[in-house]
Amino acid sequence: MAMIIDGKAISGQIREEIKEKVTGFISKYGKAPSLTVIIVGEDPASQVYVRNKARACEQVGIRSEVIRLPEDTDESSLVSLIEKLNGESGVNGILVQLPLPRGIDEKKIILAIDPKKDVDAFCYENVGRILTGDYDLLPCTPAGVMELLRRSGIEVCGKDCVVVGRSNIVGKPMAALLMHKNGTVTVCHSKTADLASHTRRADIIVAAVGKPGFITADMIKEGAVLIDVGINRTADGKLKGDIDFDGCFEKAAAITPVPGGVGPMTVTMLLQNTLKAAEKQI
Ligand code: NAP
Repeated sequence: MAMIIDGKAISGQIREEIKEKVTGFISKYGKAPSLTVIIVGEDPASQVYVRNKARACEQVGIRSEVIRLPEDTDESSLVSLIEKLNGESGVNGILVQLPLPRGIDEKKIILAIDPKKDVDAFCYENVGRILTGDYDLLPCTPAGVMELLRRSGIEVCGKDCVVVGRSNIVGKPMAALLMHKNGTVTVCHSKTADLASHTRRADIIVAAVGKPGFITADMIKEGAVLIDVGINRTADGKLKGDIDFDGCFEKAAAITPVPGGVGPMTVTMLLQNTLKAAEKQI
């Protein structure tokens, strides 16, 4: 029977630690770290994410501002706004909520953010830093996974780690972070031949595929650690991960639930990045 890795509880604990550090920051420098979130358009899921981020900032004492722009905002005015925020010393972190409306080149927008204020850590400079191991800011979801493993006492060194998914925001940086901790990492994707032959020998599986219940009990080995990044909304409105939780529960050594596993950690790591960015900028 698997240990359930409680991301909500771990995340709560880290937020308390961040709150304490933010209080220290304020008494030392006379101002709070600050995050500016830009949202373009009315995508309902994005609206929820942005609200959650602002609320989380408030909880730990980080100052947050949400800039809401209309759906028809053009690329050049968005770039100009980012450039203006790059130059403001009162803004420590800048996050542009993705996805952006059609017609705006996401890459251009991400690259317009000053790398020191890039709290999503998506720009090329930060990606290069992640690969070389010389980083301050880490992408929030993979950083959250590493923190879940560390705080659950799960050793990565020497383990066979299989990351399913190779996106720029999850799979690729996840593989780099596991490698930095001396895991032996295999990255699988939609063109992987015989995926189960890889997952079956994994000590640690990180699933970031976007397909509900994709990793099933017959694809894992006894005693595997299962980290589920997937967030999929099913037809009946429920959230389901990429791992068949019920099917794998008996066989795995540890497993993250969805919701309540990796999800809460992502916002928590954003708070941590904002604090780190502010400390670096001071
Ligand atoms: P993505 O950009 O769509 O990438 C999905 C990856 O899965 C791709 O690399 C794709 O391979 C691979 N894949 C698709 N079908 C596959 C198959 N049959 N076998 C093996 N690999 C397959 O998604 P993402 O942004 O990484 O997100 C993945 C999931 O995590 C989604 O459910 C998303 O909602 C969730 N997510 C959660 C958080 C969080 O805070 N918990 C944060 C970000 C994302 P190819 O590269 O070959 O296409």
